[in-house]
This record gives sequence, C-alpha cells and structure tokens, in this order.
Amino acid sequence: MSRAVVVGAGIAGLTAARELAEAGHDVLVLEASDRAGGKLRSAEVAGTTVDVGAEAMLHRRPEGIALASAVDLPLVHPTSASSRVWTRDALRPLPRTVMGAPLDLDGLAASGILSPAGMTRASNPQPAHFGAGGDISVGDLVAQRYGDEVVDRLVEPLLGGVYAGQARRISTRSAAPQLLDLLTRDEVVVPPPPADAPPVFAAVDGGMWRLPAALAEDVAGRPGCAIRYDAPVTAIRRTGTGFVVATPDGDEAADLLVLATPAAPTARLLGDIAPAAAEELAAIEYASVALATFAFRADDPAVAEALELGASGFLVPPVDGRRVKAATFSFAKWEWVRRAGDGLLVLRTSLGRYGEADSLQVPDAALVEASRADLATATGLPLAVPAEDVVVQRWGGGLPQYWVGHTDRVARIRAAVAAVPGLAVCGAAYDGVGIPATIASARAAAALLQ
Ligand SMILES: Cc1cc2nc3c(=O)[nH]c(=O)nc-3n(C[C@H](O)[C@H](O)[C@H](O)COP(=O)(O)OP(=O)(O)OC[C@H]3O[C@@H](n4cnc5c(N)ncnc54)[C@H](O)[C@@H]3O)c2cc1C
Repeated sequence: MSRAVVVGAGIAGLTAARELAEAGHDVLVLEASDRAGGKLRSAEVAGTTVDVGAEAMLHRRPEGIALASAVDLPLVHPTSASSRVWTRDALRPLPRTVMGAPLDLDGLAASGILSPAGMTRASNPQPAHFGAGGDISVGDLVAQRYGDEVVDRLVEPLLGGVYAGQARRISTRSAAPQLLDLLTRDEVVVPPPPADAPPVFAAVDGGMWRLPAALAEDVAGRPGCAIRYDAPVTAIRRTGTGFVVATPDGDEAADLLVLATPAAPTARLLGDIAPAAAEELAAIEYASVALATFAFRADDPAVAEALELGASGFLVPPVDGRRVKAATFSFAKWEWVRRAGDGLLVLRTSLGRYGEADSLQVPDAALVEASRADLATATGLPLAVPAEDVVVQRWGGGLPQYWVGHTDRVARIRAAVAAVPGLAVCGAAYDGVGIPATIASARAAAALLQ
C-alpha cells in the first residue's frame, strides 16, 4: 500500500482523494484554507444557509449526480422559472440557444434582444469556417454565422455567466465543442427537447456546498486517511521515486501526489519537478468575480411586484454597460431556497468579468450599492426597500479562462506531468470548469496513479 498526498480540498481534490482511498491507498489531503469545498461554499444570509459559490451542476453529465448519490445526498432540479436577458432597457425572454448561438430565430425575433439590423443579419446565417483540426473563439465562430450583435447580446452574457470570460477569446473546442459541428453545417436544425426530457441541471437539496462537506466526511472517516486544514503546500521536491511535500508545519512524504489546485499555485509547485508543465500552467489566466446575496421580505408588496416575475433571474450583456453581469433569483429557481428562506426572497447578483478585476477593488458596500442600483433599474425594486441581510463573497481568480488553443495547452501540460511517475494534476483548469467536468478530471487523475 502506498501513501498518496492530495493538495487542495476543492471538489476535485476530494474526489481524487476518495478514489485513491477506494483503491486502497492511505491518503492525506492538504488544504490551504480552513474548510473543504473551494468554490463550493455556503454562508448564512438572514439566517438561511445558501450557496455563495457554485449553485448547480449539469444533470446531463453523469459524474456530479453519481458522486452525490455515492455520498447519499438527495438531488433537486430547478423550477420551470426561466432566465431573462436584461438588454435594450427591458428584461427579455432568453430564447433557445447553445452557448448563445440561436436555435430558434423566431423566438429570438420575438424576444427583442437584437436591434432590427442585428435581427436582419441573424436571420441570414452565413457559413462559418475554422481551420481543420484547429480552434476558433466562440465569439468569432458565432459572429461569422449570425453577426456581431448575436455575440454581443447573447453569447457574451451566456459565456459571462459560466466563465466570466470574453466570447472572442474563449475556445470553442474547449468550451463549446458542439458548436464546431453545428455552426459549420449548412442548416442548423435542433428540435426542441420533448416535454418529458430529463432536466438539464440539478443541485443538492440544501445547497451544492453539501457535496464537498459530505465527501470530506467520507474521506476523513476512512482508516489511513486524513484532511489537514490551514495547511498550504509551499514546495514539492522529488526524492527517489516519491515526493516530499512542504507545508509551514513540516514536510510530508508521498509515493503518489495529486495537485488539485488552480493553475497559478500548481505552476508554482511544479516549477522544479515539471518545469514545462509549470510554464504552460502559468499562462492560464483567471477571471475574478464577486457575488452579493440579498434577502428581502417576501410580504413587502413592492418586493413581490418587482421580483415575483416567474423568472429565475437575468443575464446582462457587457455592451449594455451595467455593473452586474447576472442576477439569480434563487428563491424562484430552487424550491429549497424558497422553503428555507421562510418568508424571505433570497437572490444574488454577480459582478466581474475577465479583465475587470479593478472594478471589484472597492469596498463590499460599493458592490452592494451597484447591485441595488441595477436591480432597481431592471426590476423596479425600490432602493428604499431595505434588504434584511446581504453577504458579499469575492472569488479572486475564481474562473480559469479557456482561451483559443486551451485543449492543446492541456495536452502539453499532461504530457509534461506524465513524465514524472506518481504525479497527476486535476481540477477546473483542464477539461471544463463545471462541477461534473472537474470531478471527471479528478477521477482520471486518480486512475492514472493506480
Ligand atoms: C462564483 C462561481 C460560481 C460557480 N458556479 C458554478 C455552477 O453553478 N455550476 C458549476 O458546475 N460550476 C460552477 N462554478 C465552477 C466550479 O465551482 C469550479 O470550477 C470548481 O468547483 C473548481 O473545483 P476545483 O476543485 O478544481 O478547485 P477549487 O474549488 O478552487 O479548489 C482548490 C482548492 O485548493 C486549495 N489550494 C490552493 N492552493 C493551495 C496550496 N498551495 N496548498 C493547499 N491547498 C491549496 C484552495 O484553497 C481550494 O480549496 C462556479 C465558480 C465560481 C467561482
């Protein structure tokens, strides 16, 4: 039996730790912060515990739901409330799209999201091209087919929601590979899903934060396994066939080593033992975002009139020049949030896209004020209505940017890491930022070390 050290107790590190423990290894997880979960995190807002990081996962992919069921967590699905796009001075229905590429031009026209000129261009789709075997940004691909305005008013807000990124830099091959086939066809016909199609999204009842909490309990409860918090790994050295992992409290020996940390710390830690991987990792940029979670009294008629729209929230195109990039009406999207809120409507705004980190360098109160101002303009929620509570959560360097060429970069990183036997990397920097993709990368990393 060998000893594995996993660095990072986010969803990737905990998944890798559990897989390695299942395979019979002793496992030590070293986590820099005082808690498990990384970007899956909870906070109390007016006495209600809600997610202040990731709040949902794709249900179409099996990894997240399988992991939740393995640790006995019940799943729920969003209500039928649908998202809006706040653009051209109104909250407009979001038509059917794939990452903003329209699948329903009639629905797009009815939504009023595009100007008449933008709609004329979108209604005359042109063939889109990209270099054989190559890559192109999602924005450039969609612009070729439907015009710039579709990119500005649909692709940007949708990619902004997932990656906090810029459509004209994000790789289609990494972030939306299905578009490469779809948009280079002569005709894009994707029938609407049948009424009984399985839901697209799921979450853990009571919050996604419960998933890493349950995993951490599972891992720490196994013989030979432990999680140490407040244990930032500061350096890694190779010793014979193993590793020495340095923390401020001393060194740990490892036969197997998984780095489940974001790209920047992974790059620093790999500088000596896999310099080529370190250089590639250091080139992956991240976007910072902040979330403001509000609780309003549901029995205030002004609140109900402004917020009970049957909408799950809204996305905001950057061209409209607002401060918030999205609002999620958690009380309307998740029945468990409405229940837990017990007379309160909990919602959250999201601020910050790639390249806007400076705009987040302001006190929490300024982010709250900007959110309230945008909520007032978008929904009519009067500024005079007090929030019962508001919590600001900052995610500095929260979301990796999958720029054009990312898939090739990841292949080069993996090749350089594979040259060091016993070492593996996983997490959101590689094969997808979503929870299921992150879990898949962790399972693959653990499998490599078996
Ligand atoms: C605001 C926000 C909302 C999101 N919403 C969703 C969503 O709804 N659905 C979805 O699917 N995805 C969502 N995502 C993306 C998803 O949550 C993340 O991509 C995923 O959780 C990342 O997991 P991870 O384990 O790779 O990394 P992380 O969660 O970043 O975990 C890495 C861990 O490593 C630790 N660490 C770092 N350096 C060291 C070190 N030197 N030593 C020891 N430990 C270290 C960190 O403290 C952290 O705990 C969201 C992300 C953000 C930021």
